[in-house]
Amino acid sequence: MKSLIILGSTGSIGTQALEVAKRDGYKVTALAAGSNIELLEKQAREFGVLAVAVFDEKAAEQLKHNLADTEIKVLGGVEGVCKIAEYDGDIVLNAIVGIAGLRPTLTAINAGKDIALANKETLVTGGELVNKAAREKGVKILPVDSEHSAIFQSLQGAPEGSLRKILLTASGGPFYSKTRADLENVTVKEALNHPNWSMGAKITIDSATLMNKGLEVIEAVHLFGISADNIEVLVHRQSILHSAVELGDGAVIAQLGTPDMRLPIQYALTYPNRSDYAFERLSLTDIGTLTFEKPDTDTFRCLSLCIDAINEGGLAPTAVNGANEEAVKLFLDGKIKFLQIADLVEKALRNVKNKKDFDLDDILETDKQAREFVRKSLDI
Ligand code: NAD
Ligand code: MG
Repeated sequence: MKSLIILGSTGSIGTQALEVAKRDGYKVTALAAGSNIELLEKQAREFGVLAVAVFDEKAAEQLKHNLADTEIKVLGGVEGVCKIAEYDGDIVLNAIVGIAGLRPTLTAINAGKDIALANKETLVTGGELVNKAAREKGVKILPVDSEHSAIFQSLQGAPEGSLRKILLTASGGPFYSKTRADLENVTVKEALNHPNWSMGAKITIDSATLMNKGLEVIEAVHLFGISADNIEVLVHRQSILHSAVELGDGAVIAQLGTPDMRLPIQYALTYPNRSDYAFERLSLTDIGTLTFEKPDTDTFRCLSLCIDAINEGGLAPTAVNGANEEAVKLFLDGKIKFLQIADLVEKALRNVKNKKDFDLDDILETDKQAREFVRKSLDI
């Protein structure tokens, strides 16, 4: 049985990953989280891990105190999270939210560990570095994002070089069919009310703006070595067909299932094998109808901005991602309106100081500048 390290264990994906780990009997060796030490402590005790890390240093000190009766090692800060990423364990499941997941991903790859990757911002900002390091170290990057898992599953057995096109499905989010005028005054509560998936706050807002689908186009470019021109985004309200591939002979192969992240999490862990036990089985007659439509990119501009960014390449996707992370935070804090998110992302994209050859420091600096740019343009 493989042993697991889970980064972002207290979040939506992290807790579901622990559920899969418990059911399938994986040994969990180490965990990391941002600041929720109550839940992290409970998880650490339940799974008998060797070590935990908390990004927030003060919270880490408190957790060290709370776990003093155990042998569990407690680390803090970004260095601590990276140490967890290279701990004893076969596979690192990265479910951290945001670019904060990039350094731990690279650390885990450099330690020779396979990655089950939920943290799409890792690939959006550092896709080139991640792919290069993974190639050099001979490690696998196994997608957890449901669409990318569906694409990966659909490609099993497809001959090398036969992929022509990706059909990337999108639920359309809570504001499907709304006009710009409708969106002028939407509230945080309305934006957090996703029709099909229960997820962390940041990705739920990204789903409402369609930024999430834009980030996923970039993620697919890096995972499957295809250009954005060959990725078609389809709005599919039922979230049953999780994405598809078109091969050279015109065959379209898709993966379908209930909207439940535990299946893609489980597949990343069992790959190339499959578990024999489902969390939920799909009844297509209960669903009845599957629909597909073109997205409204005039209203939901974040999707096109991400495609512009990946076509420009270099540091443009990092600028777009950083501006979005900052803008989403400000929207959740009630400081900006919903439609301002796309405006700020666009301004940051037009303002990026781009270059072709870049390293991790350039990415982190561009991220910082994009966030500062957002705050400055709002006078915050
Ligand atoms: P979440 O907000 O529920 O959880 C995020 C986790 O990351 C928490 O455990 C938090 O403590 C931890 N974290 C935050 N900042 C950190 C830091 N600096 N260092 C260490 N840990 C930190 O988010 P989520 O919905 O679980 O999403 C996680 C990632 O998975 C995101 O990149 C998201 O886009 C992706 N994803 C999520 C879903 C989903 O269904 N939730 C689906 C597909 C992809
Ligand atoms: Mg997804």
